Amino acid sequence: MRAAFYEGQETIRIGPCVPVPPGAGEVQIHVSHCGICGTDLHLFHGKMDHRVTFPQVIGHEMSGTIAAVGEGVGGWATGERVTVRPLNPCGACPACRAGHSHVCQKLKFIGIDAPGAMQRSWTVPAHTLHRLPDTLSFEQGALVEPLAVACHDVRLGEVRAGDFAVVLGGGPIGALVASVANYEGARVVVSEVNPFRIRLARELGLEVVDPRETDMVALVERETGGAGADVVFEVSGSPAAAELMTKIARVRGRIVVVGIFPEPPKVDLFRFFWRELRMTGARVYEPRDFEKAIAIAASGRIALTRLITDTAPLEGLESALRRMESGGQVMKVLIRCSE
Ligand SMILES: [Zn+2]
Ligand SMILES: [Zn+2]
Repeated sequence: MRAAFYEGQETIRIGPCVPVPPGAGEVQIHVSHCGICGTDLHLFHGKMDHRVTFPQVIGHEMSGTIAAVGEGVGGWATGERVTVRPLNPCGACPACRAGHSHVCQKLKFIGIDAPGAMQRSWTVPAHTLHRLPDTLSFEQGALVEPLAVACHDVRLGEVRAGDFAVVLGGGPIGALVASVANYEGARVVVSEVNPFRIRLARELGLEVVDPRETDMVALVERETGGAGADVVFEVSGSPAAAELMTKIARVRGRIVVVGIFPEPPKVDLFRFFWRELRMTGARVYEPRDFEKAIAIAASGRIALTRLITDTAPLEGLESALRRMESGGQVMKVLIRCSE
């Protein structure tokens, strides 16, 4: 049994996994697959070292099978196929008490603040579990977490059938946000510059334009009869997109900020006043977003596995992170943790 440990300074070590017997309220899982996320790349780059206890097993987009159940855990049995919502809220802070425990003020994200899923044997609180139907493969199961992010974003964007939506950024999350908005009946245009991602998003059936070739403001005006987009998802985290998002939203349109901006970008607040725009942040997911993601995945209406550009053993993690940082021909890489 092995695990991938992040040791700091852009170093991953593959070593023996130390199985932790499940305590009260916990379950032990045999991890099958674990996806690599932009967050993992961030972590690899040392941007979250202040949150990490070294060496730390990373990973949080997984699928697996329950191997053991701790004391007091009801409703779960050995052998069940599951995925994990990797959030451990405190339950006591003002946000938790107000019912927003997914953005708990002391939120522990499992895979950053606590050991993650890139290990064969992983012990987590039972409250994080979601059941995977037998019709979903473990590969699809490992994509439920990013799909749940997209479900949360689309829900907060209040997307309805017939809406015109623009998604700025066509990476894994952007492609999933667009797919879920499509699933809800919206017409969606994705803006992306990376040719590989453009091609892949098109293979998913998405309408994609390169903003360097297409004037986005003119396109949205033309396609909406001069109104503007009902909802704009900013998923790229780029300053150019932060400037663009207010230009393409309709009167009383919604802007959902999903992308992570390390520096405060320039945002045209005049447009918020002039068009009575509404902006909302969207972070992680709530349990119902996971259930929705599982239902959408099981519906087969999104060609989820097309997002997977590579599957590798644990040894392939570091080189996959390198490929991701070079921004090349990579979308979602899954790590096989069962070997
Ligand atoms: Zn992730
Ligand atoms: Zn809390």
